[in-house]
Amino acid sequence: MNNDLAIAQSVTPRPITEVAAALGLTLNDLELYGTYKAKIGYSAIERHLNDPVGSEGKIVLMTAITPTTAGEGKTTVTVGLGQALCRLGKRAIVTIREPSMGPVFGLKGGAAGGGYAQVIPMEDINLHFTGDMHAISAAHNLLAAAIDNHLHHGNRLNIDPLTISFPRVVDMNDRALRHIVVGLGGKQGGIPRESQFFITVASEVMAILCLSNHLSELKDRLGKIVVGQNRAGEPITAADLKVHGAMTVLLRDALKPNLVQTLEGTPAFVHGGPFGNIAHGCSSIIATKLARRLGEIVVTEAGFGADLGFEKYCDIVAPTAGLPPDAVVIVATIRALKTHGGVRKQKLDEENLAALEAGLVNLERHVGIVQQVKVPFVIAINRFSSDSVKEIALVQDYAQSKNWLVAPCDVWGQGGKGGEELAAKVLQALEQPAHFTPFYTEEGSLFTKMETIAKRVYGANGIALEPAASTQLRWLEKNGFGRLRVCMAKTQYSFSDDPKAGGAPTNFILHIRELRLSAGAGFVVALAGDIMTMPGLPEVPAAENIDIDDTGRIVGLF
Ligand code: ADP
Ligand code: MG
Repeated sequence: MNNDLAIAQSVTPRPITEVAAALGLTLNDLELYGTYKAKIGYSAIERHLNDPVGSEGKIVLMTAITPTTAGEGKTTVTVGLGQALCRLGKRAIVTIREPSMGPVFGLKGGAAGGGYAQVIPMEDINLHFTGDMHAISAAHNLLAAAIDNHLHHGNRLNIDPLTISFPRVVDMNDRALRHIVVGLGGKQGGIPRESQFFITVASEVMAILCLSNHLSELKDRLGKIVVGQNRAGEPITAADLKVHGAMTVLLRDALKPNLVQTLEGTPAFVHGGPFGNIAHGCSSIIATKLARRLGEIVVTEAGFGADLGFEKYCDIVAPTAGLPPDAVVIVATIRALKTHGGVRKQKLDEENLAALEAGLVNLERHVGIVQQVKVPFVIAINRFSSDSVKEIALVQDYAQSKNWLVAPCDVWGQGGKGGEELAAKVLQALEQPAHFTPFYTEEGSLFTKMETIAKRVYGANGIALEPAASTQLRWLEKNGFGRLRVCMAKTQYSFSDDPKAGGAPTNFILHIRELRLSAGAGFVVALAGDIMTMPGLPEVPAAENIDIDDTGRIVGLF
């Protein structure tokens, strides 16, 4: 079996102008980044989004059961389903997140799909791509620099340095930067204080970029970023520091969606990449909106399982952007279900029907979550070569006994061809009526929203706020942030806040340890557990195997 990079390099992509032409986009609409990548210019975006007679495609939202280290393959199935829908004659477009470079050099495994269901050119997409990550880092760090500069030059806004919560960012896994001291070096070095580095995808600027419809909204949201408090305990914003305009300048190109293609030439927007825990974990709304105007069906992916990315899509993305899903695909793998049924990683290759059956509670819980938003759904069994025929049949029979649409797929091994049965089921789901309803309404208090997510989505008995979170809640309510949406930062490995509780845990309380304001993104992050905002590298990082030859051909990347 070829590795992902070899498969990707074996295909000569179509010129991106051709891919764009099939969508009705002309050369004038494109800003080319070489032959195989393009950004869509603002005039084309405007024209399509404001076209009163333009038709709107359907949105298929990809989610999954609770992830395990065995890997679920949402991106792979998203890309493969797009390819399969095209094989069935539909104008499908894929929208996924831009990979962060941190994990590329850390653990092996790309974020551009896998096997015969990938977006290409995968080396570019996984590395600098069109420079969006760098632009976001620069815009973010401009604000960080402005804060310390303000302290240095007399602190007119009377910012309390100990309340500054705005970190610096870099798109690299670098644990040594998690906790730092800035402002060293004497009088000219600024005011010494403790600070932090986050990885770029954890930046609020990233979340804002992904939730903005146009430049003026982007600027407005950037201006609302709260960086800390003054000595009276009032919020200090980026607009107070007067740098949100300059930040927007740095993001002028990053806001434009990136068009690439899959291995089979299906158009794909790869744009924006917010974290799935402390942010909302979905690609940009501007790309999804544009895709909906250009194609018949948009397949888009939400981060982690249905308890996280899917909930956030439904409660943050869909209501703010006006992008209700028309159908949902829940990816499950035999390996992950067996893990939830208690099988250890070393034994996953062996057939184990009893453990598989025990693990189905996890799938059932995710289905229960998806059913609440009143949108038709399909279960996709993402086939691995180790799956036995009996194991696949067991999951299929179980789903059919419940009257759920289900289809196995092998897009990883066969590309779009291996996803035709799934694509047909998705088309069937799209024929059914959808009455999309988010989990909570906007009017509720922050507490009600957190409690609703915990009870309705996680199956918790309730929530408990630790003292620090209670204090923060009072501050947020007092300062006008009491009605924002909630972005739950919880372990992706369990419905509860205990990463070891796989399957479908019951009878637990969700502990909220901290509340962090992302005023520009329009949500309050509720932290239920230790959430890593700056990953580290493993003992042998993937970087040690990555190299390049004299012709510029990259080797060892996945
Ligand atoms: P997710 O989006 O859920 O995080 P990905 O689609 O990125 O998952 O897949 C995670 C890893 O698993 C990738 O390296 C991918 O190539 C691999 N993978 C996905 N599906 C399969 C499959 N059916 N067989 C083998 N490997 C797969
Ligand atoms: Mg993914």
